[in-house]
Amino acid sequence: MAARTPFVAGNWKMNLLLADAVALAEGLKPLVASSAGVEIAVCPTYTTLYAVGKALAGANIQLGAQNAYVKESGAYTGEISPQMLKDVGCSWTIIGHSERRHILGEDDAFLNEKTRFALASGLNVMFCIGELLEERKSGAMNAVLERQLTRGLDGLDAELARVVVAYEPVWAIGTGETATPDQAEEAHVFVRSVIASMFGEAAAAALRIQYGGSVKPDNAAELISRENVDGFLVGGAALKADSFAAIVNACAR
Ligand code: PEP
Repeated sequence: MAARTPFVAGNWKMNLLLADAVALAEGLKPLVASSAGVEIAVCPTYTTLYAVGKALAGANIQLGAQNAYVKESGAYTGEISPQMLKDVGCSWTIIGHSERRHILGEDDAFLNEKTRFALASGLNVMFCIGELLEERKSGAMNAVLERQLTRGLDGLDAELARVVVAYEPVWAIGTGETATPDQAEEAHVFVRSVIASMFGEAAAAALRIQYGGSVKPDNAAELISRENVDGFLVGGAALKADSFAAIVNACAR
């Protein structure tokens, strides 16, 4: 079993109005209150962050955002800065989720800028990478992951300690199709080797790599048993307190 503390985060995406978001946070608290040896975060919508943060006060659940812009303030209509996210209690932000890469068109250079600015602003970053199905089928998977990592994390140094990489094969996100434990482990080993070549063996050994893509209570235990799987980024199953708690508890020590 790896010495790295497992980290399980829920990405609520563009779901839940205020009352339901607060109810989910309230429902989750008692279910994970005694989950030992696992770090937990939830990433609600911008509009519910403050209320969810208040609901989670004192709980062992951190607050994260799903995205953050590259400026502190100013004429950037519709954007939210890391400073604003910290102001409402966030300690984490997701950067580079596949839905932002593929639906919103965010490229490696922009994601690098976002990652660097979020880290410089004091947020921790879950940096998402992952290949499309056609990239996997054509044998381009490793090249894609390597490009996303080398460009996305370019220029980081000691701040890498505040980055978690989320390996999320795009074909497994929201599809019900999960990478097998072998596929996840193989990709995570490759990610760690790229990180080692960029930042050295010690940094690579310390890096936590989450798996994301249709993680559910019934596949979490087998996935987390793999040496290089250090937790999960959970979408659909994070929208129900009992299923997210079951995934968290599968990672508890
Ligand atoms: C995600 O959105 O990061 C994700 C992994 O979604 P799901 O768990 O629904 O596949």
